[in-house]
Amino acid sequence: MGFSGWRVLKEGLTGNKGWQPHWRDATPKSEYDVVIIGGGGHGLSTAYYLAKNHGITNVAVLEKGYLGGGNVGRNTTIVRANYFLPGNSEFYSHSLKLWENLEQDLNYNVMLSQRGQIMLFHSDGQRDAMARRGNAIRNQGDDAEILSVGALKRMLPYLDYEQTRFPIYGGLMQRRAGTARHDAVAWGYARGASERGVDLIQNCEVTGIDREGGRVTGVQTTRGAIRAKKVAIIVAGRSSQVAAMAGMRLPIESHVLQAFVTEGLKPVIDHVVSFGMGHFYISQSDKGGLVFGGDLDMYASYAQRGNLPIVEHVMEAGMTLMPMIGKAKLLRSWGGIMDMSPDGSPIIDKTDTEGLFLNCGWCYGGFKAVPGSGYSTAHLIATETHHAPAARYRLDRFRTGRGLMDEEGTGSQHNLH
Ligand SMILES: Cc1cc2nc3c(=O)[nH]c(=O)nc-3n(C[C@H](O)[C@H](O)[C@H](O)COP(=O)(O)OP(=O)(O)OC[C@H]3O[C@@H](n4cnc5c(N)ncnc54)[C@H](O)[C@@H]3O)c2cc1C
Repeated sequence: MGFSGWRVLKEGLTGNKGWQPHWRDATPKSEYDVVIIGGGGHGLSTAYYLAKNHGITNVAVLEKGYLGGGNVGRNTTIVRANYFLPGNSEFYSHSLKLWENLEQDLNYNVMLSQRGQIMLFHSDGQRDAMARRGNAIRNQGDDAEILSVGALKRMLPYLDYEQTRFPIYGGLMQRRAGTARHDAVAWGYARGASERGVDLIQNCEVTGIDREGGRVTGVQTTRGAIRAKKVAIIVAGRSSQVAAMAGMRLPIESHVLQAFVTEGLKPVIDHVVSFGMGHFYISQSDKGGLVFGGDLDMYASYAQRGNLPIVEHVMEAGMTLMPMIGKAKLLRSWGGIMDMSPDGSPIIDKTDTEGLFLNCGWCYGGFKAVPGSGYSTAHLIATETHHAPAARYRLDRFRTGRGLMDEEGTGSQHNLH
């Protein structure tokens, strides 16, 4: 079923009776060529690109809850390609290019809004660092520009520029950055994969990974055993637990990240604004809610809910940056489980078990990676070779120390982010 303006018009005139479910709710078969564990953004996009780019359609995505119920439906939807380090910059650059054609590719409105993202800086030293980052981004072929404090005041008049702790000196802007509707991204990839023959199986938790003679042979699930030639673990915050089923101990820590939304307001914030010094970032949704977040809850946890000290920390940072936010009523808050890697960069790799693949370590930045990650993971599964933009996302960098990409400059202590 295709979407078009004509279709919307026709359905509107005929009582909206012709719409179909967007994907088949499949029952598991006994065997697949590829089983993907995890129906989040990365699992679904991997299934889609396996089918679309490589013609591999005998694929099942096994999701323990419902599709899109994990982080892909819980994030603050920021999409950007302004990473600094080689290894990350080419990957996110590729991903942003996929975003820019995603709606046409999926025939699905993911509401990509390239409204621009601004990272604020608060000292001369930070300005230098941002200029260097901007130059690296431009060398990569993406856009970045330094904004003076005067330009910022015209663009973001609601900020408190003179705050004594972190007076604002300017910002680094990427105009092609922005937001997208997170649920629609999951649904669009699910629909695209299902249309191409992939089985999407909900309420199906993987409880074991079967191996024989150093090879993966299938998975045990709450809906029975499923044999598979290849298995990919793509479960974000649950990566360590699922990898342990194959005898692996991952260098991943799981932490909760919270987000918040206010009641709907008239348009006031036209961009995505990041206040790194205070651990705060904000945008405004199309419904008018101010969507914002901050730092991780500072201890490891698998609980998909947040704690009050971080709520206070985020509210304080918001009030520091834009005191007018104190007038808005907070509507909801929620949390998701982040798969934090020691260098803040992800893993897309084979494992020591033949046929078993791993995709994880997205920390709090994996939504923007959904298209690029699925594309590169599908390439790895199909061809057994690394896709160039993701070639540095090797697992063994944590064993050897070679190839680490400490994007945040904070090392493995996640409470220093
Ligand atoms: C509050 C918040 C704000 C964020 N903001 C941003 C942002 O602005 N920009 C950005 O780029 N990123 C952001 N992120 C990060 C981003 O959402 C994640 O990095 C990304 O969604 C993780 O990949 P995923 O979508 O595949 O994860 P998920 O959606 O969590 O998918 C993993 C799936 O695996 C399933 N699973 C787990 N164990 C099993 C099992 N045993 N069997 C079967 N299924 C299993 C889970 O149920 C889940 O559905 C944010 C995250 C949060 C929580």
